[in-house]
Amino acid sequence: MKEKSTVDHLLGGNDQFVAEEFHRHAAYYQVLAKRQSPKVLWIGCSDSRVSEDVITGSRPGTMFVHRNVANIVAFNDVNVASIIEYGVVHLKIEDIIVCGHTRCGGIAAIEDGVHENYIADWLCIASGAKETVDRIAAERNLNREQKLELLTAENVKLQIKHLRSLAMIKNMHDKSPLPRIHGWLYRVETGKIEVLVDGRESDLGYRR
Ligand SMILES: [Zn+2]
Repeated sequence: MKEKSTVDHLLGGNDQFVAEEFHRHAAYYQVLAKRQSPKVLWIGCSDSRVSEDVITGSRPGTMFVHRNVANIVAFNDVNVASIIEYGVVHLKIEDIIVCGHTRCGGIAAIEDGVHENYIADWLCIASGAKETVDRIAAERNLNREQKLELLTAENVKLQIKHLRSLAMIKNMHDKSPLPRIHGWLYRVETGKIEVLVDGRESDLGYRR
């Protein structure tokens, strides 16, 4: 018999999901089938290890999701802009989470430089984080691992800055603390999430 491929396993996994989770919580999924009303917009990395539903123990319907290499919020990116617009204007999402993660290939490429054209152009958007980290790493004599971790955290903070600078978000923040913006770091070594920027604390201190 032919050995099962990864794709076969995915389809098998779906059969199992329908038979167990979907049927067990049929009422939940029937409501969800009519409309989605996620409370959170997740902006994360495309890395296969950072599965937002799994690492936060969430069911389908919880998060509106955008993922790209190194969880970047670019000014000229119609893709992320339309997701944010649909999220905050139509879905009335009140919390946006930007989540970076340790051992991120995108972050390592920012640190080491990269020759592929599109990836290099894309990662340029995060180059401000590298400048900050280069300075701190020289002052504190950080090793490579410490430097990459700091770069991951600084990149999350920089992307939050980009997010807050988008006219759409700026206009909303002029009138209200919503959407609250959170910065997280997911540790692939332990499975734990660390809060870098706690949007929960800042209902009124939103213009940081
Ligand atoms: Zn990554």
